[in-house]
Amino acid sequence: MEPRLKSISKERYTWHNATSNVEVTPLRFFYPEDKDDIIEIIKDAEQKGLRVRAVGSGHSFSEATICKDYLLSMKKMDEVFRTPKSDLKEEFKEKHLVSIEAGIILMVLNKKLDAMGLALPNMGAVDFQTVSGALLTGTHGTGIKQPAFPDMVRSLKLVGTGGALIQIEPSDGMTDATTHSQQSSLKLIQDDKTFYSAILSLGAFGIIYEVTMEIKQTFWLQEKRYIKKWSKLKEELQSGEFMALVENTDFVAFRANPYKIKGDHTCAIVEQNIVREEDKPKGFMSLQRNLISTIFGDIEYLIESTIRQMNRKPQNAGKTIERALNATKDISYFAKSHKVLYQSGLAVIRHGISSEFAFDANAEKMVEVLERIFLQASINAKNGKLYQSSHIPVRFVPPSKAYLSSAYKRKTAYIDVPLLHNTIGDFEILERYQEMMIGLGGIPHWGKVNNKLYERNDFIKSKFKDWKIWSDLRKQLDPKGTFLNDFVVKMGLS
Ligand SMILES: Cc1cc2nc3c(=O)[nH]c(=O)nc-3n(C[C@H](O)[C@H](O)[C@H](O)COP(=O)(O)OP(=O)(O)OC[C@H]3O[C@@H](n4cnc5c(N)ncnc54)[C@H](O)[C@@H]3O)c2cc1C
Repeated sequence: MEPRLKSISKERYTWHNATSNVEVTPLRFFYPEDKDDIIEIIKDAEQKGLRVRAVGSGHSFSEATICKDYLLSMKKMDEVFRTPKSDLKEEFKEKHLVSIEAGIILMVLNKKLDAMGLALPNMGAVDFQTVSGALLTGTHGTGIKQPAFPDMVRSLKLVGTGGALIQIEPSDGMTDATTHSQQSSLKLIQDDKTFYSAILSLGAFGIIYEVTMEIKQTFWLQEKRYIKKWSKLKEELQSGEFMALVENTDFVAFRANPYKIKGDHTCAIVEQNIVREEDKPKGFMSLQRNLISTIFGDIEYLIESTIRQMNRKPQNAGKTIERALNATKDISYFAKSHKVLYQSGLAVIRHGISSEFAFDANAEKMVEVLERIFLQASINAKNGKLYQSSHIPVRFVPPSKAYLSSAYKRKTAYIDVPLLHNTIGDFEILERYQEMMIGLGGIPHWGKVNNKLYERNDFIKSKFKDWKIWSDLRKQLDPKGTFLNDFVVKMGLS
């Protein structure tokens, strides 16, 4: 092995994901600093018949990151710059296009964009993921008109088999092919099928080193969080009132207590609307989220003590969730978009784990699924003495063009079942939900606990109607299988 490759790698280093439920000790763990390092790593691996995979922040709970041979941390590649206009077609020159190195963490990206007067149009509940990791598993936030990560991308660059540099865009992509052809080392592919496969490809198309995203100018959000009982919310879902709110509000989500307290399930609704900076309300309180929930969510010790408490008296789960939901109430919160879209506490990084499922954003279906979750929670408690430690978040996402997106070509409601890792029965509860939700047609999130899908390749193929386009293109771009891993193989996608 070349001295440079030795100097940027460790032999048999044990890597684990954020929650430590996935652990690997690959042959070599690399820290590439630029695309040239990645080229050399791939060439070296292919000479030896080895596989290559990258990891972001390891915030996937699934086995998407697993690799036994060469594993690459992308963290040293974190530059952000406005996309040079020289190579762009005229109609793209006025858009807010930013080129982002793959390993940047969203928290840092948000700060850099803010300094440039820009912002991501949307994000998930946290900002610890890398941009490439968020993209490749289909990370989403909420907002029926706000894109998930793959749908913010306009162009991506990867190092493929043989160390080839490839830039992939849709057929009507941003790059002027006549100018681009002068750069011989970077092959431009402008093709819808390749692009809508690559933007959500679970690391199986090559190592992505840069993505170009279309983003927005800095914007401000006003958030309202309030409590509503399930019986009332159900009525509003059935009458169409709640779905009208989802359509007419920039970002909406709700969380439900799976346990009844005083005869009903409590739900906490979050509404966020884009406002002008000059609409900033007066008074300190509106510039601050509910202090109790913010402090609680950020202090690891408090979460650890909640886990111990949960394990001592699991039957109190419903009351604990009730208190937590009530504590999130705000009169109003006003801040820059990335602060408002961030919905979680730091402590969940190591302690939260979940299975999440995509359904049609259809009110009847949502009522059916939520009531089945409530029923399952009570069955788990009665028959298995198993109690889940968190509320059920429900979020809304617009149709995606990515072939492997669980929101492919349909408005989608994502229903999540998060838990505190290391509470009694954590994975057993998630398995029970996976079986039940898959039975109801729910498509599990690629980055969350989804091991039951290994037994259900037929389900995957029926739900992702164009999976074959993805799979054929993958083979075409990666004929040696360098970028495959057990996860992609076990899902039946190879
Ligand atoms: C606390 C918490 C909250 C979360 N909230 C949300 C949420 O609100 N919405 C949501 O949709 N999801 C959410 N997730 C899931 C998370 O966003 C995804 O699993 C995401 O993929 C994690 O990003 P990462 O950078 O950690 O990627 P990793 O988990 O490290 O990797 C994900 C995949 O991308 C591949 N990969 C990463 N970088 C590259 C690269 N440069 N080239 C090729 N392949 C690469 C990896 O091999 C792997 O297959 C949450 C997870 C946690 C832990």
